Amino acid sequence: MSEAVPAAAQVEAQCFFEGRYVPFAEARVGVMTHALNYGTACFEGVRAYWNEAHGQLYVVKLEAHVERLRRSCRFMRIELAPTAAELAEIVVQVLRRSRYQEDVYIRPLAYKSGELIGVRLHDVADALCVFAAPMGNYVETGGIRCGVSSWRRVEDNMIPPGAKITGGYVNSALAKTEAVENGYDEAIMLTAAGYVSEGSAENVFLVVDGRLVTPTPAEHLLVGVTRSAVIELARQELGMEVVERQVGRSELYNADELFLCGTGAQISPVVSVDRRPVGDGAVGPISERLQHLYFQAVRGEAPRYASWVRPVYDSPRRRQAPAGATPALAGATP
Ligand code: PMP
Repeated sequence: MSEAVPAAAQVEAQCFFEGRYVPFAEARVGVMTHALNYGTACFEGVRAYWNEAHGQLYVVKLEAHVERLRRSCRFMRIELAPTAAELAEIVVQVLRRSRYQEDVYIRPLAYKSGELIGVRLHDVADALCVFAAPMGNYVETGGIRCGVSSWRRVEDNMIPPGAKITGGYVNSALAKTEAVENGYDEAIMLTAAGYVSEGSAENVFLVVDGRLVTPTPAEHLLVGVTRSAVIELARQELGMEVVERQVGRSELYNADELFLCGTGAQISPVVSVDRRPVGDGAVGPISERLQHLYFQAVRGEAPRYASWVRPVYDSPRRRQAPAGATPALAGATP
């Protein structure tokens, strides 16, 4: 689990804030900001992967994330000034200007920026910021232990989980902390009706009799960009049948394999649920295969999935030699 990025690590970073690119430290909001008080903001989580051999940083599924942000904003009555293409360009600019040469996580955040008291969505000013921070694994990818949460998933007619609304993430935070304090790595939440919904920030997949099974969007979940990517890989690369249907709690215990997926979590195999081993309690072969295929695609190493990634730099970047070091010269004699 990665921690908050220390401010020192971000001194060089640029973010997009109030229509300009500014150093990270200059992007600050006031205490009366509506979104801070009432959770009235929408966000996205996007990843970019550094490929050392290519000297390139690849942003994953940028258009899909931008599109989802636009939908979330429409729902929250947040006016986004930039078009979809401009938003995508802002993300690329933030990365380029920060000169990242490592795996990073990008956070576009559209928020009610008005500084006023009053719980509502109408007649409150909006703003957009985009920042990024280095990020390794959000949860372990070598086999995690999950617990079914005592917190039920918020429903579509409460705070729609299908829109990434900051306030709705209190539900996820309650579940995550409960899970960690109970000795698990991650929570799996059920709907009020008792069916499997999703993890605190991940979609859930089961392998049952050689088929991939995942809850339908009607189960009050966020339809993940990674979820769609996994479905595509399973069908195209493994020739698997993928079934979207209602999933009962006990199916989690009886599945042959289980994994979570999301931009942050990537593909994270689950080896136990409520201390009951999944399958034989080790990472299953299908989860492992999908994880491998996913990492190849997002690092820009799978030509078939080249459309999933957008290169940030116009030409390959090479790491600067550390100060004082002598660059190796081909054919040079010592
Ligand atoms: N569900 C929730 C609640 C999430 O926060 C996320 C992370 N965005 C996901 C699922 C996975 O979505 P994606 O694959 O688009 O990151």
